[in-house]
This record gives sequence, structure tokens and C-alpha cells, in this order.
Amino acid sequence: MSNKAETRKFGFETRMVHAGHIPDAVTGARAVPIYQTTSFVFDDADQAAQLFELKQFGNIYSRISNPTTAVFEERVASLEGAAGAVATASGMAAQLVAFLTLLEPGDEVVASSQLYGGSITQLVHTLRKFNLQVRFVDPSSIAEWEAAITPKTRALYGETIGNPRGAILDIGRIAALGASHGIPLIVDNTMATPALCRPIEHGATLIVHSATKFMGGHGTALGGVLLDSGKFDFSRYPSIAAPSAAYHDLRFYDTFGHYGFLMKARAETIRDTGACLSPFNAFLLIQGLETLSLRMERQTASALKVAQFLEGHGEVAWVAYAGLPSHPDHALARKYLPGGPGAVFSFGLRAKKGEGARARGRVFIEALQLFSHLANIGDVRSLVIHPASTTHQQLSDEELAKGGVAPELIRLSIGLENVEDLLWDLDQALLAR
Ligand SMILES: *Cc1c(COP(=O)(O)O)cnc(C)c1O
Repeated sequence: MSNKAETRKFGFETRMVHAGHIPDAVTGARAVPIYQTTSFVFDDADQAAQLFELKQFGNIYSRISNPTTAVFEERVASLEGAAGAVATASGMAAQLVAFLTLLEPGDEVVASSQLYGGSITQLVHTLRKFNLQVRFVDPSSIAEWEAAITPKTRALYGETIGNPRGAILDIGRIAALGASHGIPLIVDNTMATPALCRPIEHGATLIVHSATKFMGGHGTALGGVLLDSGKFDFSRYPSIAAPSAAYHDLRFYDTFGHYGFLMKARAETIRDTGACLSPFNAFLLIQGLETLSLRMERQTASALKVAQFLEGHGEVAWVAYAGLPSHPDHALARKYLPGGPGAVFSFGLRAKKGEGARARGRVFIEALQLFSHLANIGDVRSLVIHPASTTHQQLSDEELAKGGVAPELIRLSIGLENVEDLLWDLDQALLAR
């Protein structure tokens, strides 16, 4: 790059296709090569020692870092406006790495009750095994967030666009509440992606993603990523500032400053959990990132059309899409997601006399021709699921109700098909008997 290019602040779309990568110096390869290798040869014994001491940056073993994965990390960090990123095996892994890096046994997390079903089970059941407690709150009530904070609270947690009712997190207010208590806000930005919302601009500290969804965009690779704004003061935060027994008493904050959290996440948590991203999946996710804003723009526009169509349909009881004025969080959506609140939303089938909500859902889903019935979102193909019998099936009735999942609820993820074809498909399936 010329000096001129070095001083220019490139736009989002330019960074989608260039950030974190220059053509390979040895081969001239323009696309990001896949460094399909587990390990990297040391220059000499001194260099090896320096690498292990974290006194020099470089690749040792692909569980800790890999050049292909590094391009994915830098690219997402650039798009989110983060200081840096650590890629993980999946979205669930990104969350777990965030918690295990931040928290010590006995610590607490305050979380929105409107979360992806898998996140609720991870928070409730898996974190409990580490003696970590989670208090769930109605995300729309700042008073509930505040009341749930105790001296042991070390993180606040929510989703930009909550699953499956499309609740919009008031990121600015919750981040400010956290800041006033010295607690970082972690935001799961999977459903929005940085193309629609960049939570760091509103005060969030850590971002987690299931890159499996819109980032990859093609339903081909599991992956996740954890990002740090680099703006939170970790200087008195116990796990990041105190000497770490897991890394011969290294003080991550003193040594790496604003990269302290990410260095600990990589050098300790990923090292010890093995929750790393494979270079091949990093390559696939990079392909997805290159068209991210184009897909989000089109899929979000189509989602609005589909939501409007369903809202006017006689076989539909309700539609929960924050892009519609009827949604309680419509104003928050306009504030945080001016490009539209994504392409995933839910609606309820109208109950029929003598027909249970579950049976009605089955007839509808089986009549669809274009929508694929599966447990995923964010694909270029349109997807449908009935959460009460699938993603949220392991939750108790009480947890289901708290998460806002009704038995008649159908979740759609709108893809890139011709939107008129999608409306046709939904209409014929709604009328099916
Ligand atoms: C899918 C999803 C996850 C989990 O991600 P995986 O890549 O499937 O592990 C977490 N949060 C949200 C909002 C999701 O949609």
C-alpha cells in the first residue's frame, strides 16, 4: 500500500474485502491462503523461548494462532471497530471463552432473559459447574438490571437482537449502567452483524458472535469470534489485572494494556479449552465476510416485506419483527439498527378450533416448499423452525415462557431468494390443511 492508503480511513465495504490481508509476499496469491498446518518451525531455540514467554509475537501451534485464522480475526475486528479479536470453534465457544477469561469461581453474571436457547443452557447449567451464577432479567427494564447487580457481578450479557422475539437491547443505557459499577457489557451481535450494528460505538466492551450464521452466510462452517473494544479499564479487574497462576504469574493488564483481556483469552483460555477455529473454517468465513453488507441489506429488506405480508395475513395471529411499528422495541431498533433489525423474526400461527398449536405448526412447516426446516439462521437460503419442539425443547415450561417462546411461534430466517417467491411459499403453506 502507498503512504496515501496508510492514512486514509477506509469504508466498511472496503474493509470487508481487504482488512487484515495483503497479497501473499512469496506466491502473490490474491485470495487468503489456507495455512492448513498444525505447527510452525522455530527460527532457533531463543526464538522458541521468546514465543512461549509471549515476548515475541508469532505462530507456534494452530490451537493458539494461525495465519489464515488471523486474517479472519483482524477483519472482524476492523468491521466491529474493536481493538482485536480471538476466533473460536463456534459461537458457544466464543461465549464460554469470554466467561472463563473474565470470571473466577463465585462470580456472577447478569443476563437478558431473551437469549438464544443454547446460550441459556450454557449460562444456567454449564457455568454452574464452574461455580458461576447467572441472574436473568427482563432486558427492557433498566431497574431489573440494576437490582440484579451485586458486589460479585463481573459481567452483563445480552443480544443486540434477542432470540426469538426480536427484543432490541438498549446497549447504550446498559453499558452505562455497567460502567458506573465497573462491570463490562458483553453483547452477542450474531443477529445484527457489524453491517447493521456496532455495539462498541454504543459503549459495549466485549462482543461475541456465532460466525456460523450471517458472517459465514452460506451454512457451510461453524465458527465464532470474541472481540474487545480495548476501551474498558481492566486495571483493577481481578482476573485480568492480578498475577495469573495459569501463566506463571503474568499480569495481563500490566503487560499488554488494552490487549490484556484478549491475550489472556488466547494464551490461557483457548490454550486450555482447545476451543479454536480451524484454518479451513476461517477461510470459509472470510469468503462470507466479503459480501456481508450486501447480504444483510438485501435479506433485511426482504424480511421487512415478509413481515408486512404476514402481519396482513388472516392465518397469522401476530408478528414480532422490530422493523414493524407494532413491535414494542421499534424505536430502539431505529436507534441502534438504522439499516433494519436483521432478517430473523418470529410470528404466531392463528389457532384453529379443535387443533393444537403444535399440530398446526407441523402442517405449516411440512407444506413449505422453499423454506428449509432446520436449526440454523443466517443462511443465503430461507429457513424455518418451530422452537418449542426444537432449539428450545430442552428448556422447562417456565424457562420457555421467560424466553418469550409460545407453542405457536414459528421463526423465519429470510434468505436471498426472490421475495415474491417467498411470499408465495408462505401463503400456500398458511392455507394448507
Ligand atoms: C447460533 C447462535 C449461538 C451459538 O452459535 P454456534 O455457532 O451455533 O455455537 C449463539 N448466539 C446466537 C444469537 C446464535 O444465533
